Amino acid sequence: TEREHTEPTTKGRLVVLAGPTAVGKGTVSTYIRENFPNVHLSVSATTRAPRPGEVDGVNYYFVTDEEFDRLEESGQMLETATVHNAYRYGTPKPPIDEALAQGQSVLLEIDIQGARSVRRVMPEAILVFLLPPSWEELVRRLIGRGTEGPEEQARRLATAKVELAAQDEFDYRVVNHTVSKAAQEVVDLISTSRSSTKAD
Ligand code: 5GP
Repeated sequence: TEREHTEPTTKGRLVVLAGPTAVGKGTVSTYIRENFPNVHLSVSATTRAPRPGEVDGVNYYFVTDEEFDRLEESGQMLETATVHNAYRYGTPKPPIDEALAQGQSVLLEIDIQGARSVRRVMPEAILVFLLPPSWEELVRRLIGRGTEGPEEQARRLATAKVELAAQDEFDYRVVNHTVSKAAQEVVDLISTSRSSTKAD
């Protein structure tokens, strides 16, 4: 039919979800993993220790420094970054290539340095910046989650200020009022930008 003829081959898109610390990227991507199985959520490798409840291979691949070195040296990382001047994080490339080849869209939940690296190596990636409803709300969330001590909280807030300034480099901005709405918006962006006129 006419429609079959004009419909382009469905191609997976690479979508990067970034934003300042404590904005809720992790919660939004977990929500997407649980509610939108069509989107392949990339699992990063990290040298930091698991937090209570985190599962190896689900939230992250928890690796040693040596294992991280090996992944990097063998060219298996799409991007890597040292975050908050402490631990190393990286995006394993083979699962992404595989999902994209199968026409699945891939979501990366990474930091802003990572988003910039992805832009360099894959200019066709869609960059989404997750914003807090307000600065006060960001502070409240960071302190409220209670996973960092006061010193680390101060450090992360300073980082967040700098990170917020990067939002103009992104293709889209999504405000995290509620997790389900933000997740839906991100997923909608994936499907609408598939055939969009976004300038290359
Ligand atoms: P957390 O330790 O709180 O899980 O993550 C700390 C920061 O590292 C977050 O901003 C998160 O988005 C970022 N991050 C997680 N995985 C990756 C990755 O593979 N690459 C980069 N560049 N950042 C990551």
